[in-house]
Amino acid sequence: MKFYYNRTKIVATMGPACSKKEVLLSMIRAGLNVCRLNFSHGKPEDHKKFIDLIREINDEYKTNVGILADLQGPKIRIGLVKDGGIHLINGTRINITTNECIGDDNQIYITYETFPQDVQANEIILLDDGKLQLKVIETNRKDTVICEVVHGGILTSRKGVNLPNTKVSIPSLTPDDLVNLQYALQWDVDWVGLSFVRTGQDIIDLKRIIRESGKAARVIAKVEKPEAIENIDEIIAASDGVMIARGDLGVECPLEEVPLLQKMIARKCRDASKPVIVATQMLESMITTPRPTRAEVNDVANSVLDGADAVMLSGETSVGEFPVIVIETMAKIVRNVEDLGYPFNASKIENTDSTSANYLSDALCGSAVYLAEHTKAEGIVSMTVSGYTAFEISSYRPKAGTYIFTSNKQLLNALSLVWGVRAFYYDKSDSTDETIADVNNILKAEQLLNAGDVVINTAAVPIIKQGKTNMLKVSVIE
Ligand code: PGA
Ligand code: MN
Repeated sequence: MKFYYNRTKIVATMGPACSKKEVLLSMIRAGLNVCRLNFSHGKPEDHKKFIDLIREINDEYKTNVGILADLQGPKIRIGLVKDGGIHLINGTRINITTNECIGDDNQIYITYETFPQDVQANEIILLDDGKLQLKVIETNRKDTVICEVVHGGILTSRKGVNLPNTKVSIPSLTPDDLVNLQYALQWDVDWVGLSFVRTGQDIIDLKRIIRESGKAARVIAKVEKPEAIENIDEIIAASDGVMIARGDLGVECPLEEVPLLQKMIARKCRDASKPVIVATQMLESMITTPRPTRAEVNDVANSVLDGADAVMLSGETSVGEFPVIVIETMAKIVRNVEDLGYPFNASKIENTDSTSANYLSDALCGSAVYLAEHTKAEGIVSMTVSGYTAFEISSYRPKAGTYIFTSNKQLLNALSLVWGVRAFYYDKSDSTDETIADVNNILKAEQLLNAGDVVINTAAVPIIKQGKTNMLKVSVIE
């Protein structure tokens, strides 16, 4: 059975449109690498069904599909409104209240208890992904905020609220998130995403809970607030990966700034060797049509050129009509750009931080890619337990295939998110010479390498000790 492997990874959001095994399997065969469980929607038992299905496919077909549990974070919503929708008229006044009620022309409920205390006059309130806009006139600092409608329209129940100017005091992990996190950890997901991250500390707090639960899940910071842009360096440093969450980012920041923010964040993530996902509306029109718009095709291709490790689908695969065609389309677009190759990023080697505790292995990983470029190697083959080498090598975007052998089962699926990486389970720890011959032979048997191909091998020797990567070898496949 044929499976397509792209270098740029594809993340797809799970939902009713892809809950049948045949559909999900076809998506995986077409190039899907990581399944996103969106905890903003659905019940735990719905997510668990996907976990079981993905694991069943991984076992049956020896695939390494990863799982990303995406926590809602401090997302604010309005409550129910009467008759399923109310009409907000420009220039009129409306109250926002923290007392639960059915919304009407006079007042709407907000799920943010201290909103009247946190908000200031003249701040902006955006509703329904920014489609409607209100301005704060005054707050009674207790339970009511009086607003004026700036851009009106029909407002339906439970729509999202964005407060780009307000210093939101809701904790970054809400009580709901803590409950959902426990489910995700119990199910041993590979990645946990946190929405509306504001500081590096948000990530440090989440990682502490994961560590205290004895779990190995890695953390993705979803960058979708102006505060996250201000603190981007500390957020990248604290996280294991980043999502450029353009849906909310484009509401919270001026929309026209999003393209350059995407390039800035992607560049910083590559420099820090942290995988970066570009998300939202990538092939949005394919929710209802089998062919994307030309602008969408350009967006996917340009995101790859910006240095995305992964591109993400949301409604396209969770509720769309064409989940398999969407993956096929996305895979074709990314493959076509990848054929161009990436210029070797020599400055990254030159800028390796010589004071870092990982300086020697960083220098070795950069040199491995440099050597691979010069010898036109077909493969860079690395042994790793922590995964550190895989993230480092990938960040240089080598032309050679990146093949990672590891005895760390948890790492196998986590690496599905990382650009260019193919991971293999390997738990023999013979002497280095035999190990290198053995892993090279496995790749030859898999027809990923052929006789005569140049290969660069890296490992930590002695292999038994599982230390830092310190060995580099060039060999030719026999
Ligand atoms: P969401 O995150 O789909 O969970 O809102 C992505 C985004 O905001 O772009
Ligand atoms: Mn979002």
